[in-house]
Amino acid sequence: MSKKHLFQFLDSPRDMPPKVPLAARVAGSFDELYGSFGQAEASHQAGRCLDCGNPYCESKCPVHNYIPNWLQLVQEGRIVEAAALCHETNPLPEMCGRVCPQDRLCEGACTLNDGFGAVTIGAVEKYIVDTAFAQGWRPDLSKVKPTGKRVAIIGAGPAGLACADRLARSGIEATVFDRYEQIGGLLQFGIPSFKLDKAVIATRRAVLEGMGVHFRLGVDVGRDVAIDELLSEFDAVFLGLGAYRYTDGGLPGQELRGVLLALPFLVQNGRIVTGGDPQGRPIAGWETALALPDLRGQRVVVLGGGDTGMDCVRSAIRLGAASVTCAYRRDEANMPGSAREVANAREEGVQFLFNRQPLEIVGDGQASGVRMVETQLGEPDANGRRAAQPIPGSESIIDADVVVIAFGFSPRAPQWLEALGVQAQANGRIKVGGNGRLPYQTGHDALFAGGDCVRGADLVVTAVQEGRDAAASIARMLRGVKAIPAALTAA
Ligand code: FAD
Ligand code: SF4
Repeated sequence: MSKKHLFQFLDSPRDMPPKVPLAARVAGSFDELYGSFGQAEASHQAGRCLDCGNPYCESKCPVHNYIPNWLQLVQEGRIVEAAALCHETNPLPEMCGRVCPQDRLCEGACTLNDGFGAVTIGAVEKYIVDTAFAQGWRPDLSKVKPTGKRVAIIGAGPAGLACADRLARSGIEATVFDRYEQIGGLLQFGIPSFKLDKAVIATRRAVLEGMGVHFRLGVDVGRDVAIDELLSEFDAVFLGLGAYRYTDGGLPGQELRGVLLALPFLVQNGRIVTGGDPQGRPIAGWETALALPDLRGQRVVVLGGGDTGMDCVRSAIRLGAASVTCAYRRDEANMPGSAREVANAREEGVQFLFNRQPLEIVGDGQASGVRMVETQLGEPDANGRRAAQPIPGSESIIDADVVVIAFGFSPRAPQWLEALGVQAQANGRIKVGGNGRLPYQTGHDALFAGGDCVRGADLVVTAVQEGRDAAASIARMLRGVKAIPAALTAA
């Protein structure tokens, strides 16, 4: 056990676990980038926490983890208790520790993130849960009394898995359906292995199955089984459908050979990297599986600066591209992608072109470049974001053999929901709560929804939070609470 002193952060710098060497990454390694702390390093890093008394980190964490408390337990070597405490707020802590943009969330709010270096909260969270699982610890449900109630969950992404975890802890039997043959949603098929090793998802599946959660995989609800069947077989249904409608920039030349959409590119590559069938079932909304082009020696340009764009550039580097450029229409400070991922991409050799807006993909049958215009930032728009305004006369062509379009995603509520009284907004988001409904309850009493299909494409941790809180609402509904007074609900 390492001994804490209040000013440990002055003597010990912030440190992350070791990374896969750069040479291996650029030579094609898709291994998870960050290694693990040992007990001594984890304890040392946890000991940097000031216990400042006003844990901004907790407030900024979307699931409100008890961060200083589990950092203290790590220092004392009480890993199993730390793991149990992590799970009190977060059904998937080992995933969030790996993929949360901590620089914008918990670590960004750490009191030490002011010249001293924030506590490495995400890496310690990952250490706690990986270590406890490796030691054989599993959530203890021995005191849970079965209610006899059964709930179907559509979607085995983070929202669906978090919901299943909480239902199981409430004595409600959860059965998770997914059109894919593995659980995880975008954790499995979108996020590359260098950010999240897929063995982590397999471990979580075993943990959930041990808690009594059932999986019915390779089942597309609406095609292989009707929602009405689920509503008659189960007491309630949770929709964790995700957001898969890609933002179409309408660029001339999008149809040229060598132009790829980000998600099919990542999905197909992910299947190959993990030894799966590269011709497996195509991703939702795209009718054909993608024949992945050989990127070796190619000049790759990725359009878009979000997490998806960062995953594309870093995958292209590993696939042997001669050059990889990321073009984004705003400046670096306004980039949506995590600063840590941008730094890793730079380290791996990605070039960034900020303040560039694509106008057209040029080429004759095959893409040969992207015509871009330079931009400057104007006044903030309705969402407070400063709009990128083209600068007349600043157009130029960036050479490219392969262009990857990564403009983001929005949800599309399936048609079969309409007949059930479930409403969606014009942007495709399923409407929940308000007007006396329980939180996350749709217009149909027995249908609840959460994650990207409700909030639009966002983060793993926000999907986890919504799946967790929707399960609490489902449990209330099953206990007979029909609605809450309109005066107490948000409009
Ligand atoms: P999803 O993860 O999309 O899961 C939805 C599931 O529902 C899917 O498995 C789908 O097959 C299933 N489904 C849908 N309809 C049906 C149906 N009718 N029948 C059966 N099954 C159905 N977030 C981060 O926090 N950090 C990151 O680093 C990060 N990187 C990302 C990288 C990429 C490339 C992408 C695309 C997203 C990334 N995100 C990241 C965002 C994050 O992955 C999502 O916000 C999160 O996965 C949403 O969870 P969800 O459960 O709502 O949906
Ligand atoms: Fe930070 Fe995400 Fe963990 Fe919350 S869940 S403490 S935001 S890494």
